[in-house]
Amino acid sequence: MPFRIATFLIASCACAAVAAGLFGPKLVWPGAWMGALAWLALDAWRAQRLLHVLRNDTAALPSRGSGVWGELSERIRKLLRTREQQTRQAEDRLQEFLAAIQASPNGVVLLDAQGRIEWCNQTAAAQFGIDVERDLLQHLANLVRDPIFITYLASWNYSRDVLIDAPAQGMPRRNHPTRLSVQVHPYAGNRRMLLTRDITSLEQAEAMRRDFVANVSHEIRTPLTVLAGFVETLQTLPLDAEERARYLALMAQQSTRMETLVNDLLTLSRLEGSAAPTASQWTRVRALLAHCEDEAKGLSSRLTPLGHRLSFTVDADSELSGAPVELQSAMSNLLSNAVRYTPGGGVVVVTWRVLQDGRGEYAVRDSGPGIAAEHIPRLTERFYRVDRSRSRETGGTGLGLAIVKHIAQRHGAELRIDSTVGQGSRFALVFPASRVREARLLAKA
Ligand code: ADP
Repeated sequence: MPFRIATFLIASCACAAVAAGLFGPKLVWPGAWMGALAWLALDAWRAQRLLHVLRNDTAALPSRGSGVWGELSERIRKLLRTREQQTRQAEDRLQEFLAAIQASPNGVVLLDAQGRIEWCNQTAAAQFGIDVERDLLQHLANLVRDPIFITYLASWNYSRDVLIDAPAQGMPRRNHPTRLSVQVHPYAGNRRMLLTRDITSLEQAEAMRRDFVANVSHEIRTPLTVLAGFVETLQTLPLDAEERARYLALMAQQSTRMETLVNDLLTLSRLEGSAAPTASQWTRVRALLAHCEDEAKGLSSRLTPLGHRLSFTVDADSELSGAPVELQSAMSNLLSNAVRYTPGGGVVVVTWRVLQDGRGEYAVRDSGPGIAAEHIPRLTERFYRVDRSRSRETGGTGLGLAIVKHIAQRHGAELRIDSTVGQGSRFALVFPASRVREARLLAKA
């Protein structure tokens, strides 16, 4: 301010001096007035110029200038630059924030006060079949026509979520509907944020758990009922020694059945709960097959007086890496199935060979009844049986192939099933090359 007064006075005095010098002392005051007017005109012009720049193009603000207007311009320029930086940072943060919501596996939809879509992430767009460009500002209730959802949205009571099927056009085609959990959270007055979660696999897992518990209870209840019946008979009826012995044998059979079931269940839970087997333990395939052969021969003679024609061929003397107990269990399971489902006198051929690409294949082929194609994809499901009575008669639990599949997965192996009704079946375990090596390496190591 002192600077402005000083320049004002200087301009007035200078003009007064010039006027007095040129036209005599009488014109000192008019000269001073002229100087003051000139100063004011210049000042007004500079103020006007700054205003003009501010109105039109702030980028053209002069960076340096003299006097108050120069300083004002410089300060405004700095202030604007700081503001611009802050705006850019806020925009960047907003973009990052939106990118994070985009990356979320859950769907997010923002609705305005009228229930129109303001923004949604890709997950929600896919779940609801929203076209992000076309459907912006569309009423969500027009796109998601599920009555449960429409009632929920209109209720303004969002204390819990609702479960709906994703609109058919929204999700990629699957053979089961996609189930969504949708919950609305009001914010900023009467705006709403809608969160969605795909709970299809959760519901499937829950259904599987329920089925599993029901199946286990059924499998245990059946022999238990039989046992209870025998106990009651023994308690109430006067039986001779021979009859008693027969009943006790039948009771022993039922308790063995329960024990096998419990053992298989424990095996399954152990397989699920333990770490994958290391690749450092090697077992000779011949040893595994020898054990299988002993078991199969015993089982065959127990099941049928005719027995089976069993053959075992090892094409390459190899070793397999993994958990020996599990490998043995998987191999024995496939072989015992072949023996159990192939009628007496039938053929069961077991082979081990190393494929050209280094993978190892353990295969069991039988001349049994074969399995219809529609059953094959479901054979490894727990308690899935094609021939229920044959399974029970021969001591099956319905868990054998589920165990085999688990063991295969843990060893990176593939379970292949080929079967033709009336011609027999072929079950094979194909182990990755990394788990197969020549047997002589063991001797060297
Ligand atoms: P189970 O204890 O009943 O044998 P698995 O899981 O081992 O249970 O097998 C599932 C079903 O697959 C069996 O109930 C049977 O119907 C069918 N199956 C398995 N192996 C054979 C086979 N070699 N020949 C015919 N059917 C088989």
